[in-house]
Amino acid sequence: MYFCTRCHTDTPYEMRHCPVCNTCVAERDHHCFMMGTCITRHSMKHFMIGGFYGGVACFVSGVIFLSDCPMPRTVVYLAPVALGYYLSGVISFSKLVYAFVINMMLCSGVTIFGFLLHQVLFAALGRLPFCDPEDKARSAVQNLMRVFGGPWGFLNFLVPYSAFGYRKMKPPTGSKCV
Ligand SMILES: [Zn+2]
Ligand SMILES: [Zn+2]
Repeated sequence: MYFCTRCHTDTPYEMRHCPVCNTCVAERDHHCFMMGTCITRHSMKHFMIGGFYGGVACFVSGVIFLSDCPMPRTVVYLAPVALGYYLSGVISFSKLVYAFVINMMLCSGVTIFGFLLHQVLFAALGRLPFCDPEDKARSAVQNLMRVFGGPWGFLNFLVPYSAFGYRKMKPPTGSKCV
């Protein structure tokens, strides 16, 4: 146990204080502003698969927009170039918006996949905030199974529904259920 100075209470070591949720959360990784909640060891796989679908959606829609785009590729790939073309009167405002939307989609896709890659790598190394010190000595497969596995094996990772396999699990006393 340690004393959480913000909750003014004794807190188990597995719990970390979240300044946004304003409570201590069991096995917390980080606070996700998109989801509006803390991501924990138990919700990590569902967060990752949700992020994966989101990243794929960004790429697919970006590429569809791109293949339909009547502008030179350099204008589309680089939003500042598109802005320059618009200010010098070469392209219309609607084409500028079009170029920014494509940029946003492709950049979001790259950012999401970069973040997911970082999470998988750190989960394999046992270096995510909720990992135990012993996790660093475990093999990458064991660490990945501890985060992405479960009673249904890797099916728990593919089905983004946290109730599967966790019905009997009770959160530690005083923790926030996420
Ligand atoms: Zn706290
Ligand atoms: Zn939080």
